[in-house]
This record gives sequence, C-alpha cells and structure tokens, in this order.
Amino acid sequence: MQEQLAEIAKNARSEINAAQTEEDLKKAQVRYLGKKGEITTVLRGMGKLSPEERPVIGSLANQIRDEITTLLKEREENLRQEARKRQMEADRVDVTLPGRPVAQGFLHPLTQVIEEICDIFLGMGFSIAEGPEVETDYYNFEALNLPKDHPARDMQDSFYFQPEMLLRTHTSPMQVRTMEKVAPQVPVRIIAPGKVYRRDDDATHSPMFHQIEGLAIDYDISLADLKGTLLSFARQMFGPKQQVRLRPSFFPFTEPSAEVDIACVICEGSGCNVCKHTGWIEILGSGMVHPKVLAMSGYDPEEHTGYAFGMGIERIAMLKYGVNDLRLFFQNDLRMLRQFR
Ligand SMILES: [Zn+2]
Repeated sequence: MQEQLAEIAKNARSEINAAQTEEDLKKAQVRYLGKKGEITTVLRGMGKLSPEERPVIGSLANQIRDEITTLLKEREENLRQEARKRQMEADRVDVTLPGRPVAQGFLHPLTQVIEEICDIFLGMGFSIAEGPEVETDYYNFEALNLPKDHPARDMQDSFYFQPEMLLRTHTSPMQVRTMEKVAPQVPVRIIAPGKVYRRDDDATHSPMFHQIEGLAIDYDISLADLKGTLLSFARQMFGPKQQVRLRPSFFPFTEPSAEVDIACVICEGSGCNVCKHTGWIEILGSGMVHPKVLAMSGYDPEEHTGYAFGMGIERIAMLKYGVNDLRLFFQNDLRMLRQFR
C-alpha cells in the first residue's frame, strides 16, 4: 500500500509539472483527486487494512492529497504567468522605431498680416470690433452718406441677395455699427478687420478681399491725430524710417478726406517702377468722420470729432513681402504659402 501511494505521488508530480494547459491540469486533478481518482480509490480500500496500518496509510494518503492539491494550484498560477508574459512579449512596442512626423500647419500670410496689424493698433489703445459680412444697404451705404443715387456707389458694385441685403463692400459699416452701440460715449477707438466683397477680378483686385477699418472719436480729434497714428503704424509695419504723406481725396463718409501714401518700400523713395517713379505708394484711404455720419449714428458733430481709415490687407501684404499678384494669396499653392511658414 505504501509503495502504491509513493508511485501515485511520483506520477502526479511529473504529470503536473509537464502540464501545458489548464485542461492538462484538470485531467490530472480528476485522475488523482476525483471521485474515482487514484487517491480516493486507495482511501476507499482502507477497510481491508489492519487497524494498525489504517492510521499510517490514511495519514500518508491525506499528505499526498494535500501535496497534489498544492502542486495543481502552483502549476496553474505558473501557467497563467507564462501566458501573461507571452502576451506582453507579443504586444511589446518597439520604442526604437523612428516616430511618424506630425504635419504642422501654419497661418496663412494674410492671417499673419492681419494679426500683425491688429497687434500694432492694440498697442496704441484700439480694440477690435467685428461685424457681419452680409450687410444691409443702410449700413453699407446710406448711413455712410451714400444715398441710393450717389455716384460713388458705382465704384463699389456688390453681390446682392435682395435689394436691401448685400455682401459688404468695405469694413466701413463697422464705423456705424460701433457708433450706434456706444454713442454718445467717448473715447471710441476701434479697428475692424474682415472680409469684403466687390465685383472685381484682376491682378490687383479679387471679388473677396480683406480690409481693416479704423475709427476714433473723442473731443478735439484732428487730422494731426490721424497722421500721427498712421505714421506710428507705418513705422512699426514697414520700418522705423518710414514716412507718410496725406493727399487730398474724396470719400462720401469723411470730410476732409485723404489718401495715405508711405515711402516706396522697394526704392525707399528714390523712384522705381513699383511707385511709378514718385517715391510714394498708396496704402489706405482716410479722413475726418463726416458730420452727417456722426449725426446719423448718434453723435453731436458740434461736440465730437473723429477720424476713420480703411486699408486693404492684401495690399499691405503685397508691399511687405514683395508679392506682385494678389491672386497668389487665394490659389492655395503650397510653394507660395510655405514661404510664410
Ligand atoms: Zn519705388
């Protein structure tokens, strides 16, 4: 009997050690510990033993049963750990692989110029105002002293949705919208960047382009304030030696009105093809806010004065970067755009 048990224990140890799957372990458990298992069979046959042998064999059988139980548990845990290890090995990431480059975007040159212009004016105490691109005839024309039959409307043919609803032809409606909102409070100092639309399409005109409007209203604002502000802008934008020149002009919503030139950025004033040998380049239109416009928007022209200006962003960008065709900004040619990365 003792030899039989020793044999069973030996077989069980080697079988459990060799087990490769949970199924193998299950089989071993049934073979040795099951209802008809080998240990169980030995224990059942104990009745035939003498009373002296019985406790010795019983205790040995129990000892072997406990050992087999423990071995089964340990082997099961080993198998589980091995499986986990294999899984981790399989899932391992090779951190020595070179990474895939992430494509990094950059701002469109026009956006860069808009941000630069805004920064300059923010530094001078202006704040930014934004308004709708779909505008009413009233804000786009009438409130700017351009009544229905005004000939200056011909220079700004637009895209109409309805007789009274159009794509704004300039950012100047933001003058009126701002004044209506805050009148009669002063001071007012805003710039309004945004898209504008006209029926134009050639090397220097696009049906959609960008402008920045400027407006300042206060007590005793004069043309000198306008000129000083624009000179400061020109020097921050184009270099510390820049000069500005005001030329008399006409806009229905300013009086007096002036075109503003800066010294040619190509020849620095000595004369070249770009400036048509004048040494000057026009960059924007401006003037003192027309008393009628002030009055229509809620200000008393006897008490307050103001100046306004509007510049084309594309024009500024073309001058700053030496771009000779405005359409290049809208063709999305990466060879062109990447130069502004
Ligand atoms: Zn020049």
